[in-house]
Amino acid sequence: MNSKKGIAILGSTGSIGTQALEVLESYPDYFDLQVLTAGKNADLLIEQALKYHPNSVVISDESLYQKVKDALWNQDIHVYAGEQALCQVVESNEVDTVLTALVGYAGLKPTIHAIEAGKTIALANKETLVVAGELITKLAKEKGVNIYPVDSEHSAIFQCLVGEFQNPIEKIYLTASGGPFRGFTHDQLKSVSLAQALKHPNWSMGAKITIDSASLMNKGLEVIEAKWLFGLQTNQIDVIVHPQSIVHSLVQFEDGSMKAQMGLPDMKLPIQFALTFPKRLPTNFPRFNFLDYPQLTFEAPDRNVFKNLDLAFKVMDLQGTAACSLNAANEVAVDAFLQEKISFLEIAEINEAVVESASNFLSPSYEQYVLADQLAREKARELIQKA
Ligand code: NAD
Ligand code: MG
Repeated sequence: MNSKKGIAILGSTGSIGTQALEVLESYPDYFDLQVLTAGKNADLLIEQALKYHPNSVVISDESLYQKVKDALWNQDIHVYAGEQALCQVVESNEVDTVLTALVGYAGLKPTIHAIEAGKTIALANKETLVVAGELITKLAKEKGVNIYPVDSEHSAIFQCLVGEFQNPIEKIYLTASGGPFRGFTHDQLKSVSLAQALKHPNWSMGAKITIDSASLMNKGLEVIEAKWLFGLQTNQIDVIVHPQSIVHSLVQFEDGSMKAQMGLPDMKLPIQFALTFPKRLPTNFPRFNFLDYPQLTFEAPDRNVFKNLDLAFKVMDLQGTAACSLNAANEVAVDAFLQEKISFLEIAEINEAVVESASNFLSPSYEQYVLADQLAREKARELIQKA
């Protein structure tokens, strides 16, 4: 019997994916890497497959299938391509845990398949819970599947809750670094460049989440993610800016006691905890030294300048497919910003306009999420053409 944990990494060529591979490499007796997947980065996928010898690889872009297949022809590795293959590989009997480290709405369908097949989810792809938290959490409950957070703030909350699962949460505080534009006025934001937005002060991450961090959309998405992961009401979630990114988030209990989880910012820690919970495996990551940080500071986010945060709270209250529409608008707007087709401030303007005009389907079916996503994307593209 194989006592190692079989792991599928969806999005293995990205920021989270490559760090997850470093974690797995450190514990060869603990993990058995089964599946690697990439969107378009065939070269890195091939390199990873040759190095780690998974059972299967998937390249989502079907035009790159032959390239990957040819490079791995003499290896005992199954090579697949396309969205459907992504949904199938997670169902393999050898897979115990699926790490969803792909970016955006594309994570939804394979995550549903993984939950239906009873796999444990290590969730980095927050968009899945933003888009369809109601459906995903219901399905996970029905199937008895655990979803362990990889996002550092949610991992922090989860770590604070260990041993407290019977005690109700009064409130949580998600910490935010504030991003590269902390303290900027609306006027100052008018002229910020793509290069400036891509320079996150504390974390090195994929392009989409880096822009989301600069616009505070990331924190908004995390508020919605937290609601679903921890079963909270809107008024139980607050955001506090903490520029040093040492306190990763906090829980306040009904007796007024607060627990925080701290450490140097390093995504490998939450990735590892999501894969090894309830165990903590020893690491040689650098340790926090108080004397290097004589001041840990906290301040309110500027909700008037960074409109995306309130927009996230608004769609949470609207329920149904409102958050799905916001997510779709934001994916399209961020993509346009990355291609320098719109300005930084236009991201939030497009998000707001799409949410305003979107139909809201309550208690949505999977098909209604797909429809809401599609309609919001069309509306966002239309607004970008006019911009
Ligand atoms: P990234 O852009 O670095 O990597 C994304 C991965 O997904 C790549 O392997 C890419 O090939 C693949 N991919 C992209 N589009 C795809 C598609 N349409 N279909 C299939 N595969 C696709 O992103 P990242 O920074 O690693 O973030 C991944 C997820 O983790 C995001 O949801 C992000 O919000 C979340 N997250 C990331 C961090 C971080 O530190 N990077 C922290 C917290 C949460
Ligand atoms: Mg985060």
